[in-house]
Amino acid sequence: MASVCEAVLEAARPRRLRARALGARAAAPRPWPRHELETLRRCPACGSSVRRPLYVSLTDRRRATAPGEWNFHTCSRCTAAFLDPRPTAAAGLMRGAPPLRHPHTPGWLTRQARRLTVALRNGYVNRRTDQRLRPAYRLGYWWHVWRPRSRARIHAELGWLPAGRPHRRLLDVGGQSPQAVGAARSSGWRVTVVLPDHRRPALLDMPDADVHVGSVADAGLSQGSFDLINVQGALERMHRPLEELEACARLLRPGGTIRISTPNLASLGHRHYRRHWSALDPPRNLVLFTAASLDRLLGSAGFSATHTRDVPLGARQSFRDSEELTTGRWSSPRYWLRRASIELKALFADACALLRPDWGERLVVTARPVSSATTVPVAA
Ligand SMILES: [Zn+2]
Repeated sequence: MASVCEAVLEAARPRRLRARALGARAAAPRPWPRHELETLRRCPACGSSVRRPLYVSLTDRRRATAPGEWNFHTCSRCTAAFLDPRPTAAAGLMRGAPPLRHPHTPGWLTRQARRLTVALRNGYVNRRTDQRLRPAYRLGYWWHVWRPRSRARIHAELGWLPAGRPHRRLLDVGGQSPQAVGAARSSGWRVTVVLPDHRRPALLDMPDADVHVGSVADAGLSQGSFDLINVQGALERMHRPLEELEACARLLRPGGTIRISTPNLASLGHRHYRRHWSALDPPRNLVLFTAASLDRLLGSAGFSATHTRDVPLGARQSFRDSEELTTGRWSSPRYWLRRASIELKALFADACALLRPDWGERLVVTARPVSSATTVPVAA
């Protein structure tokens, strides 16, 4: 089955356009400041010193805000990929405003379509979480009930939080969005947020928000005080993932759960787009995991080997972003045929991920500390 899926996507690789995009690449970028670089001797996930090159001379093509060229290496022991050299923790990962590049200014029709999409989405979120997001159409709830892919994407953005559990404590590591934090609070959770830096002012300005800036290990939080820790879009950006997960294990109450969502290095999207896979995102992403390397890291951090994976059905956005990095032109209306091919490829990848969740674009893992692995789990 694996070979069939890979063969189909390999046959659909945009070789000609990829070569053209590479040929048109700009001159060498400005270097990253040398005093804000650090060199690793060992894999940050498992500590092994045995590695092999994965990609060399990558640039920040996704957001175009960071200077420098970057190399990913694959750890021969745990199969994770890591950036080396990499920016220091003090350097800050975002390097200025982080808007994604959009080569084409959307027209009136596109803007109206996007507004409709947002309103339908907000209608669904308001019904499920008791928020009052605007604009919103109540029809959005029924619109998304019958669309599992878009519903799964919304749930991913909100962190898949179980509702109706008042007075439970949630630690949100990474602070993915004020909307997700608002959804958790409206569902009865007492939320604490750990942000990697000060560049999320919307969260810092939330009333009564318990926000810490820095690492989990240094946040000064009480041990054994959280029922759920949500690490979404943050693990891949941690300089010390093992130490951070060990700190998370100490912060959980008996029976508590950690949920992690991170890009999947073994995804079909990565196998298809390779160095143009949007989730590589250097130099913001420092470590990228396969299911096996994440299992190993969780075990080393004191979490039980028993965990579940969900199917995030997230191939479409990943394929769109990766295609844009590959050819730089998919979103032009003139390339409607290419857009249709992207949708088909993403649909195929999603179908494959239904059969094998560890081929999905993201790994979604739930785990519990070893000491509480035999207790009743928190409901998903
Ligand atoms: Zn390793």
